[in-house]
Amino acid sequence: MPTSPSPRRRPWQPKREAQQGRKERTGFYHTPPWRSLRNSFIAANPLCAECNRNNRITRGTMVDHIRPINRAEPYNTHGGQYPHPLERENLQTLCESCHARKSARESHLKR
Ligand SMILES: [Zn+2]
Repeated sequence: MPTSPSPRRRPWQPKREAQQGRKERTGFYHTPPWRSLRNSFIAANPLCAECNRNNRITRGTMVDHIRPINRAEPYNTHGGQYPHPLERENLQTLCESCHARKSARESHLKR
């Protein structure tokens, strides 16, 4: 007589929700002035600037500050030490891989 493997009962394991609990504190990037500037900038500059410099045509997905802004207080430029966060001249469109590379470089450059 054939023995069919009877499924073992597993104790029900509750899924961990702790991982998703914390929201990122990316405050400035969620503010309406930035979002609307970002949207109009990327509409006008849809291609990745970095890829473009390397003669590649890549669709950009994010708008990057060329000179990093004051993350703690975006609107505090410390008398020009930081760029104003809504300054168009300081923006460039990047694709995801170029952006990842740039952020990695910047975190290396911590003085
Ligand atoms: Zn790129």
